[in-house]
Amino acid sequence: MFDPESTALDILIPKYLVHCYIYYKLGTSIISDSQFDTMAQRIYRNWDDIDHPNKDLIDKEGLKSGGSYIQFTSRIEHAANYLLRNQDTTMKFDILKLRKAIDKYSMNIGEENIHIHVPDNRAKERTHLGLSEVCHKCPRSAWFAFRKIHQKEHPPQLMRLFQRGHREEFFFTELLNRIGLTVWEINPKTGKHFKVSDCEGHLRGTMDRVGKDKLMHFASTTDAFLIEFKTSNDARFKKLKKEGLKKSNPQYYGQIQGYMGLEKNLKGCLFMSVNKNDDEIYIEWVTPDPEALQHILVRAEDILNATAPIRRIAKRKGYWECKTMCSYMDHCFDKDRQSDRSCRSCRNARPIAGGKWKCVLSKQKYGKLCKQWEDCNVK
Ligand code: SF4
Ligand code: SF4
Repeated sequence: MFDPESTALDILIPKYLVHCYIYYKLGTSIISDSQFDTMAQRIYRNWDDIDHPNKDLIDKEGLKSGGSYIQFTSRIEHAANYLLRNQDTTMKFDILKLRKAIDKYSMNIGEENIHIHVPDNRAKERTHLGLSEVCHKCPRSAWFAFRKIHQKEHPPQLMRLFQRGHREEFFFTELLNRIGLTVWEINPKTGKHFKVSDCEGHLRGTMDRVGKDKLMHFASTTDAFLIEFKTSNDARFKKLKKEGLKKSNPQYYGQIQGYMGLEKNLKGCLFMSVNKNDDEIYIEWVTPDPEALQHILVRAEDILNATAPIRRIAKRKGYWECKTMCSYMDHCFDKDRQSDRSCRSCRNARPIAGGKWKCVLSKQKYGKLCKQWEDCNVK
């Protein structure tokens, strides 16, 4: 249950904004009056100590009367609707039953082979901020990726590894279809993959699959749900089994929450992972987590609005997490390391509506790399 007395102060700001929207704009409430008042009073008392980019949307003096003037952004509207929608997370999924069905089917798989066709999915150049990036543990690394500070070429072995993950998606899709679920790779309405988008088109993500259990073999409703697949090495798989997705892989957990939060029709996520060593399967039913979505949207705004590298998780070069999960170590710590030259990495570039970009220098055109880049080189 939400306790405004023990919630961290910087979390209270987005919470207050969202609950104000629900109350003042949607005419309803999902917390008690006393929770609402306590939240307002705590923000008021600690106003000077709170450091949050959305603090300016609140009128401090209005907090005393509980009717402070609020500027509502589309982010707040989104989060409020999401929270309301998922108040009653009624969709349940019987994972044990699904596992038994998969195991039973696997015993006959030799007689009835699964033939899959894996289409070419060579990654196109990413023009947006991906949900996977925004959920990276280090916000600075996400900013580097968004601004294309450095494009690293992947070695052939890594490319094969990506393909391996991609192949498994098709195998699992077929497996789930054969045990009675309806699984889509392509959205029948658009003829394209299932995608989500927010932040004026700059934050985007593509989902693995969407499914329905039309006959309710495993699910408690016939609502649509997200399906995500992941291959794991042995160590990661063991960690996943021991700790669950949220703790063992917060980045992927966040990504899933982003999909569910931005696509209003999804009532949960069937997450499946396979151990590449021995083909053991891990299955988890992930329910929507509005707080995780709020965190993602706030962070996305930080990244989109910044014209210079933002906060990082390490003070010194060589920190173990940087070594294992970031390709920008040199750019992060070496002052003389130059970024890749492009308008995207230039301080004068700004993301604008429609997922587009503009150059703030009146005489320059975004996309036509000019000599100003040298003066504005991002560091
Ligand atoms: S090197 Fe470390 S601190 Fe710097 S961006 Fe990468 S993960 Fe963040
Ligand atoms: S046109 Fe020149 S100044 Fe403008 S974003 Fe591109 S490099 Fe920077």
